[in-house]
Amino acid sequence: MRTFWTNLRTSALGVTTIVTASDANGTILMVGGSELLGHRRPDDLVEDLRGGYVTPGFWDSHFHLTEYGRSFDRLRFDAGDTRADILARVQEHAGTRPTDEWIIGAGWNRAAFEAGPDKQRLDRAGIGHPVLLMSLDYHTAWINHAAERRLGVSTGGNGILREGDAFHAQAEAMRQSAADPAEDAARGMREAAKLGLVGVTTIEDVLGLRALQSLPDGTTRIRTQVFLRDGDAEWLMASGLKAGFGTDFLRIMGVKLFMDGALGSHTAWLKHPYDDQADNVGMSVLGEQRLLDTLKQLAEQESVAAVHAIGDRAVHEALRAFHRWPPRSGAIKSRIEHAQLLDDEDLELAARTSVALSLQPCHLLFDRPIADVSWGQRGRYAFRIRDILGALIDTVFGSDAPIADPNPVWGLWAAVHRGLPGDPPWYPEQGISVRDAIRSYTEVPARIDGRPSGRLEPGCWGDMTVWSEDLEASLIHKNPEDIHVAATIIGGRRVV
Ligand SMILES: [Zn+2]
Repeated sequence: MRTFWTNLRTSALGVTTIVTASDANGTILMVGGSELLGHRRPDDLVEDLRGGYVTPGFWDSHFHLTEYGRSFDRLRFDAGDTRADILARVQEHAGTRPTDEWIIGAGWNRAAFEAGPDKQRLDRAGIGHPVLLMSLDYHTAWINHAAERRLGVSTGGNGILREGDAFHAQAEAMRQSAADPAEDAARGMREAAKLGLVGVTTIEDVLGLRALQSLPDGTTRIRTQVFLRDGDAEWLMASGLKAGFGTDFLRIMGVKLFMDGALGSHTAWLKHPYDDQADNVGMSVLGEQRLLDTLKQLAEQESVAAVHAIGDRAVHEALRAFHRWPPRSGAIKSRIEHAQLLDDEDLELAARTSVALSLQPCHLLFDRPIADVSWGQRGRYAFRIRDILGALIDTVFGSDAPIADPNPVWGLWAAVHRGLPGDPPWYPEQGISVRDAIRSYTEVPARIDGRPSGRLEPGCWGDMTVWSEDLEASLIHKNPEDIHVAATIIGGRRVV
């Protein structure tokens, strides 16, 4: 039994029919015109895609799946919310919840506050509840007294935790609030599939990895590749696990490491000080020696790393370390996550180094004003996607959901137009073609992950995203909000 997907369009002229097998990956057997229908046998299925525009299935290369699923139950703030807005939302929410229950929220932006976060005000708004509010970039947590007691930590008067302390607090609050990670992962998959995503590369802790192995029955399944957070990965290192171990629906890739913090929290590690903080160059989180030691060990066991590096100094140190200890993992590549600031010297070093760059173009939509203030003239080296593609560096796109909306239309839009609709483009010379942007969501991730997918060709997995209209033309002429997913096909089966 095969499936004949008909009445479709693709970027290739004359293609109207794709035939997939009934094996676990729905392998593509034939791609062609309506003449393929003549090959039908009685038990074959025919699926009419009603003129939909088919691309290879979209893959988000930087995701937090359980977090994303959970984010639908949280207080979500807008980047422009003031302190008063946030406190009012917390108070309103706290009033409706049983006392003692954690109040967790995310998305606040310090730049929107005149007076800064404040622990006492958060105490009053929380009316006895422990409250933890993650910043827009998740690298800063704002907590109150009750949360300090429950977490066994102490902050200064502003209730602020940064970087590792913030991540730790968040994980512990999750544990105490008895979130069900399997339900969260299932919710995340369902929502991601609606956006046309056939798979994600997700950063998880051990609980998240367990959740992906114990999804509730009937879950809409997308494909997942897991990088374990450093700190949850000792057993992976000790076990000698190779990159890519697992199944075609759940693979363990390697370890996620942090070289630095983030732009919005002024912790991205820079070669030169921030324009708006003359004595601050940001923060080195891991240290060069630990990075070298870890990459060496990963290389020896044929595993890979995803190294978070945002500032130019962090990217530089990560590139040097990868240059010294390139992975020996066959087709599966290590990657630098974000690489937001990359000067000419390091662009050239990246081109000579066996590592992929994993970028989130949609972040430029909200990082742009912060970069202008904090990085000034260096903004021209930020999100320099056209230069990176021009240097023939393998480049994959993602969203870092739930930090940003994972709808890939926004990522494509940002990579092509460099600004929100109607806004003047930001460093427009770094805009890329729609076709290149699509490849960084489809063909390129498949290649650096060592998956036979990402293309509409015989032998590839039957993973396809069906759009309401010609994606390439629409991204030039239409508003991103008018571009919709008509179907998501994973392993030759329609899931949306
Ligand atoms: Zn992330």
